[in-house]
Amino acid sequence: MIFEASRAKAVDKLNNFTEQNLTDYSKLRNFDFGPDNRSNVSCLSPYITHGVINELEVIDKSLKKFSFSKNEKFIQEVLWRVYWKGWLELRPDVWTDYLRELEEIRNKSKGDQSYKEAIEGKTGIECFNQWVIELKENNYLHNHTRMWFASIWIFTLELPWQLGAEFFMQHLYDGDPASNTLGWRWVAGVQTQGKHYLASEWNINKFTNNRFKNIKLNENATPKLSDKIYSVTKNSFEDSEISEDKTLLIFENNLSFEITDFKDNKFKKILLVSNNRDRTIELSKKVSKFKANLLEDQKTRLKEKSINCEIININDLKNITEEVYAFYPAVGENLDFIKNNQLKNINFLYRKLDQFSWQYCNKGFFNFKNYIPKIIANFN
Ligand SMILES: Cc1cc2nc3c(=O)[nH]c(=O)nc-3n(C[C@H](O)[C@H](O)[C@H](O)COP(=O)(O)OP(=O)(O)OC[C@H]3O[C@@H](n4cnc5c(N)ncnc54)[C@H](O)[C@@H]3O)c2cc1C
Repeated sequence: MIFEASRAKAVDKLNNFTEQNLTDYSKLRNFDFGPDNRSNVSCLSPYITHGVINELEVIDKSLKKFSFSKNEKFIQEVLWRVYWKGWLELRPDVWTDYLRELEEIRNKSKGDQSYKEAIEGKTGIECFNQWVIELKENNYLHNHTRMWFASIWIFTLELPWQLGAEFFMQHLYDGDPASNTLGWRWVAGVQTQGKHYLASEWNINKFTNNRFKNIKLNENATPKLSDKIYSVTKNSFEDSEISEDKTLLIFENNLSFEITDFKDNKFKKILLVSNNRDRTIELSKKVSKFKANLLEDQKTRLKEKSINCEIININDLKNITEEVYAFYPAVGENLDFIKNNQLKNINFLYRKLDQFSWQYCNKGFFNFKNYIPKIIANFN
């Protein structure tokens, strides 16, 4: 499976999926038919994660094809990402704690044999080994497979979830601090305290069409325990007053200026920020290349519109002395860079979808779901 790093290809993928496969999405979405047969899901996440296409664009396209009730499942999935992002924004300590724990665990687990076997795909579990290869080669895994993978990692191989989340972030093209960290926490049973996700042989057999043998799992494990309860510590996301002829920074999660809420504002210059190597989680070469190519693609499109723009290294931000605007990079390594380097002259601009939706992220997804019609109506 190939993910080409351009908005044009992302839009093609969206159009093809909506026209040909959206109709069966809710019936077939849980099946992993293998890397050569992914038509039952959209495979749009590498693009949505980077803002190459956005959630509203995807939802709008689906609603032009089918009614809300026929599309409800797909729309819910698309908005899970917004929900997870909002949940983490309201509790940014979850991310900080995750990185801290990861560093502690890494130091302890250096040279651990079962960890090595897991990341090299040399365990006694055939399907898991196959998914490791797929993750490294295709930089994508099906959602159900991510759940099985994480569950096997935590409960059968008995490895810390923090290392598994790191492994995903290193290799997924759609690696996203919120969806990934909270996805792993949810499988482990520390996101919804006491509720874990246990992979089972029959479930994997059913949803992979019996493609694998030798699936011997620990199907009786109990949830991981955490004594940490995170309450909401931040809930205000106000834009700065915006004045014309300023510089705008765009990070790697908003790589489509032409579909942003601020596309009609006049900026003196746009700087596309690349090369954050100052990360706790080092990305694989392929993932870094994918990001670099998406940045180049955005630059080409902006140049075609005669917008003054260039790609800069994130370290160059330390030399900027003027007041600048930036699309909010969201909780993650780029925001950490800004904070760690105490860059004070950056004024954040938030996506309107996030600003509106995050107020409903203080509780669980089942609560958030109730507001989906309201969210959609607000942007239609
Ligand atoms: C342990 C674990 C780790 C994950 N890590 C990531 C990650 O780093 N980045 C990431 O984008 N997603 C992550 N997910 C969520 C989900 O697996 C992927 O978004 C999905 O598989 C992407 O494939 P798709 O585009 O074909 O999805 P589709 O089924 O076609 O769904 C359409 C869109 O809805 C959104 N979506 C669907 N399911 C989810 C979900 N469970 N959570 C959030 N958004 C969702 C995605 O934007 C996706 O592109 C993770 C899930 C788990 C269980």
